[in-house]
Amino acid sequence: PVVSPFFHPPLTAQADSLAILHVKRDSLLPVTLRTTANDGYAEGAVTNTRFGSYPHSTLIGVPWGSQVRASKVDTGTRGRKTKNAKSGTATPASEPAEQPPQDEAAADSKKRKADDEQLQPPESPTKKMKAAPEPTIKPPQPPLKAAVEAGSGFMHVLPPTPESWTYSLDHRTQVVYTPDYSYILQRMQVKPGQTLIEAGAGSGSFTHAAARAVYNGYPSDSSDTTSHGKVCSFEYHAPRVDTLRSEISAHGLQPLVHVNHRDVYNDGFLLPSAVSPRANAIFLDLPMPWLALKHLSRSSSPTSPLDPNSAVNICTFSPCIEQVTATASALRKAGWTEIQTVEVQNRRLDVRRERVGIKEEGLRGVNSNPATVEESLSRLREVDAKLSEFHAGKAGVPGAGKVQSKAERLEGIRAELGGRKLFKEGRLVHRTEPEVKTHTSYLTFAVLPMAWGEAEEAEMEARWPVDM
Ligand code: SAM
Repeated sequence: PVVSPFFHPPLTAQADSLAILHVKRDSLLPVTLRTTANDGYAEGAVTNTRFGSYPHSTLIGVPWGSQVRASKVDTGTRGRKTKNAKSGTATPASEPAEQPPQDEAAADSKKRKADDEQLQPPESPTKKMKAAPEPTIKPPQPPLKAAVEAGSGFMHVLPPTPESWTYSLDHRTQVVYTPDYSYILQRMQVKPGQTLIEAGAGSGSFTHAAARAVYNGYPSDSSDTTSHGKVCSFEYHAPRVDTLRSEISAHGLQPLVHVNHRDVYNDGFLLPSAVSPRANAIFLDLPMPWLALKHLSRSSSPTSPLDPNSAVNICTFSPCIEQVTATASALRKAGWTEIQTVEVQNRRLDVRRERVGIKEEGLRGVNSNPATVEESLSRLREVDAKLSEFHAGKAGVPGAGKVQSKAERLEGIRAELGGRKLFKEGRLVHRTEPEVKTHTSYLTFAVLPMAWGEAEEAEMEARWPVDM
């Protein structure tokens, strides 16, 4: 049975299970909550962030979505003494605490650009094409100690999902991000109960999303252990295989995900003992996907890894167009059809209020000065009256009588905004990220139809006789 916090999270954060700590915008921290002490803290296991320290004792048992305040723990004298051992308190999601200190919010907006750069792989596609198939490994982040000593801040405790895992996992390689994998999985029509082949598995970002797509939702107490779907992952870098295997097992996904240590260019996609995965869908995130295609035909020797009873969908993920043309050529030669290349251009819209150029006139023509608001209102009421008169004289004309009251609209806006000082909020504007950062990879899709010959036709006719 599948017992995974990714699919069946209990209502609260549990000990020895994964939780995602949402520290601030764009900053998620995956943490396995522990009841035992680590690093000698008197509080037991503690997670330190730039926005404070969180003893796990303050996180275990809180409902998902809760806001938890930081605790003061002494990081300088680990285990020897504890300054103010007061634990953090959890606030249910419905009762938000105050915003973080102003300097944090400012730091957040300054860091946003840097964070984005970290999230969008900056590696040049050409470099990836020419270089050895070893991707860049992100260096470990230095411990952030200064703000911990201040003991301020809060964060939210969230259950893990493939999306939050993608965002927060330790990137051993370039990874596939949510905008790409959501499109890939729906475009390949990956369904619960199906089998998907993935190579290379890398950091396991795509693996988690694929596991959710094939999982047929049988609850953990179901006795049916056979019919949930399957992800067969292949990776030739041994340390990455080990790390992914232990993450898959820690996440309770081992019934769904089989991680194979394999060079797929040379050794193909069969499971141990030359068993066919009988795959319905294939995702290749490899530097040279065309080299793996020879192992993905219906006549692969000794056995085909494909499901003989279904058409098979493939997607290859390549950052540069030369890789795409080489892949498309190999796909055509191997009999794949419906070859199409797509680029997902995900852009974040940054929506905020801007005060530039707005003074007393305020927002949407509404003045913040109450006297002037009353003046505007009485002017608008006059306009409304004149408009009504005008329309009344035009009975029978389409639209007549449907006067939109400008005064009512203004009163509505005023009521909606309450007593807020409108001029301080500024105009609502949005900006898009610079285009240069949007390219991740080209997605090349193709379909290999079912093999169809005399035998299949005879079987079909036996089942549904054609009366001619
Ligand atoms: N899709 C992964 C994710 O979302 O985390 C990232 C894949 S990473 C960009 C590419 C991986 O392919 C690397 O981990 C690399 O070791 C692996 N790889 C390259 N050539 C391979 C081969 N011939 N057989 C198996 N894996 C290979």
